[in-house]
Amino acid sequence: MHTPFCIHKCHYCDFNSHVFKAPPWQKYGDALVKEILAYAKAPQFAGRSVSSIFFGGGTPSLAPASMFADVLQAIGDSFVLESDAEVSIEANPGASDACRFEGYRRAGINRISIGVQSFDAKELKFLERIHSGDEAIKAFAMAKDAGFDNINLDLMYALPHQSLAQWFTSLQQAIALQPQHLSCYQLTVEPNTQLFVTHKKKQLAFPDETLALEFFWQTRKQLAEAGFAAYEISNFAQLGKHCQHNVGYWQYDDYIGIGAGAAGKWDDDQQGAVRYTNIRSPQTYMNAVHQGDSAINFREDLAYAEAMGEAVWLGLRQSEGLNLQRFAMRFGQAVEIVYPVLLRQWLGQGLMETYEKVGQSYLRLSDKGLNIADDITASFLHA
Ligand code: SF4
Repeated sequence: MHTPFCIHKCHYCDFNSHVFKAPPWQKYGDALVKEILAYAKAPQFAGRSVSSIFFGGGTPSLAPASMFADVLQAIGDSFVLESDAEVSIEANPGASDACRFEGYRRAGINRISIGVQSFDAKELKFLERIHSGDEAIKAFAMAKDAGFDNINLDLMYALPHQSLAQWFTSLQQAIALQPQHLSCYQLTVEPNTQLFVTHKKKQLAFPDETLALEFFWQTRKQLAEAGFAAYEISNFAQLGKHCQHNVGYWQYDDYIGIGAGAAGKWDDDQQGAVRYTNIRSPQTYMNAVHQGDSAINFREDLAYAEAMGEAVWLGLRQSEGLNLQRFAMRFGQAVEIVYPVLLRQWLGQGLMETYEKVGQSYLRLSDKGLNIADDITASFLHA
């Protein structure tokens, strides 16, 4: 569920986020509820159960708790909300408030993901974040005080001129807080961002490929020593604290995207899958929904071959890899039959491996394969 409002547009950000001084929370929340009620009646979703909800952004932590309470009420009234459903919210340290955090807990949100990115003042300034390292620590304390016992911290590494030692300082500060989950992403320059324009002009000193890999592997090592298992390329969790919602994406489950610019996907037995994106502009989105029009402005029907490619591409991001029985059951064909050439190539080069766990077979990237994870996973998209 996307909340597209921010206080400031960070120059590296390619999310659907818009600077609003006073976001129209009531009107936006009402639009979210209307969308939910409409999906509850759609044949592909009616009567289905909801196992996770994710309020992302933008900056959802600017919103009043009442908006999330209304949305959760609508979901509970229209779907079967599983009793142990994970309900996450993203919060920015520069937009955190103890009362709001308590309200989020009372509304039924049980997991919080704090966008720390770094504890270093210079790095935060480069990223154009509006918070300080101290404010990030305070936001974490506020979340704990509000009763959150499932907390993620988002961090970013491989910034221009950043040394490994500087990164480890932030990483160790994050570990010292003892969150349940850490997401550590390499900063990438996305087209359509201000950072892209700046980089084109000034050629910022990003780490080269060798150093970037050193960041990646050292991050894994330090987090493993601290008790965080890497369960996906950029995600680390203490035992049993992986993000159920993101695991759903990687396992190619169905999800409904609600809100401006939100994306959704469902399996379609007649064809492969359907993917859609909502109108990005918050104002146009709200107007459409309130007039009773569809919020969707892009819909793609994926043929079986495309859906299979996506399922492998996403599944291989997970450390446990792609569940082969699940794939065969979903698509009616074994992975070995669909991708004989690619499998021979990657398995033959030792870049992928198969293994068994609790009676199930999996295909995953080997350690060597993780060094070129993007190339290997993307090869299935274009097969
Ligand atoms: S706070 Fe997050 S969503 Fe908002 S502009 Fe910055 S990176 Fe983008």
